[in-house]
Amino acid sequence: MHDYFPEQLKLWSYIENILKEVLTSYCYSEIRLPLLEKTQVFKRAIGNVTDVVEKEMYSFKDRKGNSLTLRPEGTVGCVRAIIQNGLLQTKKNHRFWYLGPMFRYERPQMGRYRQFYQLGAEVFGLNTEDIDLEIILLTNRLWKRIGIHLHVTLEINSIGSRIDRIQYKKALVFFLKKYEHLLDEDCKRRLHTNPLRILDSKNKEIQKILQDAPLLNEYIDATSQIYFKNLCNMISSHGIKYIHNPKLVRGLDYYNNTVFEWKSDKLGSQNTICAGGRYDSLFEDMGGENTPAIGFAIGIERLILLVKSLEVFSNIQEEVNIYIIFSEEKDKNSAVNLSEEIRNLYPKLKIFINFFNQNIKKQLKNAINTLARIAILIDNKKMKRGCFLMKDLKKRKEYYLSKSEIIVKIKDFFGK
Ligand code: ATP
Ligand code: MG
Repeated sequence: MHDYFPEQLKLWSYIENILKEVLTSYCYSEIRLPLLEKTQVFKRAIGNVTDVVEKEMYSFKDRKGNSLTLRPEGTVGCVRAIIQNGLLQTKKNHRFWYLGPMFRYERPQMGRYRQFYQLGAEVFGLNTEDIDLEIILLTNRLWKRIGIHLHVTLEINSIGSRIDRIQYKKALVFFLKKYEHLLDEDCKRRLHTNPLRILDSKNKEIQKILQDAPLLNEYIDATSQIYFKNLCNMISSHGIKYIHNPKLVRGLDYYNNTVFEWKSDKLGSQNTICAGGRYDSLFEDMGGENTPAIGFAIGIERLILLVKSLEVFSNIQEEVNIYIIFSEEKDKNSAVNLSEEIRNLYPKLKIFINFFNQNIKKQLKNAINTLARIAILIDNKKMKRGCFLMKDLKKRKEYYLSKSEIIVKIKDFFGK
């Protein structure tokens, strides 16, 4: 779990602003949900034999003995909230996004942390390929806006319905049993609990064994096949390249049909920056009405790692616009009053008052280091009362001005 400081968070807020802008342009609205849910809610929805529920949840008992869990992901809480508040009405726009920390007890490594941030988006009530396509277009646009589109690849697959997967699981287990002695501990366990997850193994030896394994797409029914074909054609027609990865499955149980991941080759083995899919039965599983749904989540830390590795973000933003300097204690009041007046008229400017009690030369040096465009000096001993010295730190010009002249002059530098 990391502490983040202003220097790092500049990049975070730059990225978050782009994410929010693009989501808004597709008419997604923000929702904010609790960090905690009842443990049972996650167990039922995510699946008892998934990695997340088996070994990654932070669960504890509250004072009344109820088991609660820090959310390991956002979809389940979102569906719980929609059902509980009766928010679903037909023919209304149900496109939502949220941003916040998730918690999973994992082995920490680059791109994998115990508290990490996700930007999640969910769409409820739509069951045609159009919305799957819109989500691919939206995420594709995000990468373009951030400037990483040449370094990410879309992988997509259809995992069919739950019934299709029961048949497939049998075939996969039958095949893998022959190699059971070659499987690693994780896969051996999964063979009996969640065999599909073996397809996702990062172990090279396992991947070799899987080369001849039966393929999930041969087990999914005609409707799912057509849905997937249509979607792939629609994605291509928008000029987006994708890889059909028949071994792509998701770690959580609730998905059906479309699943996808955006991966980068710049991130080592934690290479997925965005993952999503359709989950048409989750509402019913959680006691709501039958409601088709699709969503995705972006791992913010991994996105940041990628942006950093590509150096597409140049940090030219000024920390301070106007640097206020006063020389003696009795000038402090004028400094504060002047800053307040500037803020009244120019609410977007960043105005810094130096309260460090340094000599003027030091203060000016600091002003230059912050990249402030102008410094304003108040020195009643040297200047006439009510007179200020404004320094243009870029062009190295100086102006002796009254307060009202300063207020007007600021416009020349920063506009209104
Ligand atoms: P992985 O296979 O990498 O464990 P996952 O299938 O568990 O991923 P999801 O539950 O689909 O991941 O979460 C969506 C995204 O959130 C991931 O693609 C990744 O970018 C990010 N993410 C998931 N777990 C972590 C983590 N522990 N630390 C940082 N980011 C994470
Ligand atoms: Mg995981």
